[in-house]
Amino acid sequence: MRVHDSLIELMGNTPLVRLHNVAAGVPAQVVAKVEYFNPGGSVKDRIALRMVEAAERSGALQPGGTIVEPTSGNTGVGLAIVAQRKGYRCLFVVPDKVAQDKVAVLRAYGAEVVVCPTAVSPDHPDSYYSVSDRLARETPNAWKPDQYSNPENPASHYHSTGPEIWEQTEGRITHFVAGIGTGGTISGAGRYLKDVSGGRVKVIGADPEGSVYSGGSGRPYLVEGVGEDIWPDTYDTGVCDEVIAVADRDSFGMTRRLAREEALLVGGSCGMAVVAALRVAAAGSPDDVVVVLLPDGGRGYLSKIFNDDWMADYGFLSTSTDEGAVRDVL
Ligand code: PMP
Repeated sequence: MRVHDSLIELMGNTPLVRLHNVAAGVPAQVVAKVEYFNPGGSVKDRIALRMVEAAERSGALQPGGTIVEPTSGNTGVGLAIVAQRKGYRCLFVVPDKVAQDKVAVLRAYGAEVVVCPTAVSPDHPDSYYSVSDRLARETPNAWKPDQYSNPENPASHYHSTGPEIWEQTEGRITHFVAGIGTGGTISGAGRYLKDVSGGRVKVIGADPEGSVYSGGSGRPYLVEGVGEDIWPDTYDTGVCDEVIAVADRDSFGMTRRLAREEALLVGGSCGMAVVAALRVAAAGSPDDVVVVLLPDGGRGYLSKIFNDDWMADYGFLSTSTDEGAVRDVL
């Protein structure tokens, strides 16, 4: 019978899909690696599985143990799916600014979620950081994956995402574009693609304007899951040939276009990465194959990016990359 034993077997091996309308007129081919095909709906399933299996092998995670991680989103879902199958408990710590729906998703998978106040300093005992450290210390048999320092995060992409892209493009990829959050995706997949191509493949990071990776000071931006105000251990600072800064307005405008024009209902960091990929592709040639990684689906953003009132409140609706939405409000 063609039956999978569990969802874990379905993690990774996501498809490459060509972009048509949004890439019209650019000389290079632009193809998207669509990570919402993972069972947890995002690229983070890959790191969840590899971090857990490495911790099982090292003994850091014992049978029946508890996974404690400060996470509000995609990593939590991936960990919850892996934990459920393997019999671990999940205890996630989230700041109270996180949307109720995201907390509800984690609880639906059976995870316990502790919500902490955002309006306290990081060293306050009730802060997100203090509470997750304390829970990891005080919970018996606890293990904290720490996606910002765990080498298995980039390693998962070196061993899965990177090789998949190389095989799917039959070695014809010339440019790899991805957003940078923990840096795991770009460091792992980017390094693999450079290694296997003898340095031929160019690696381009996409970053929200204001984030440190593109030279910003850490000033706030709205796109979720990417950009940082610190430099995490999981980011290989030598992997990117270039980092392109993208404004929130352009990221969200492109996210809406991807849904309307490519039927790709994806998250804001996907729009951001596509803006960067199109800049690369516009300067390329017909032999170039630009692969852009789209980390998650768009359902988690319906009340923000796909909500005209929210977009209008931030003054994002007048963007020239979002003519469809502008027509709607007129
Ligand atoms: N986009 C989204 C929505 C994410 O959740 C993440 C992970 N933080 C990223 C992009 C960036 O991936 P990475 O952490 O591997 O750099």
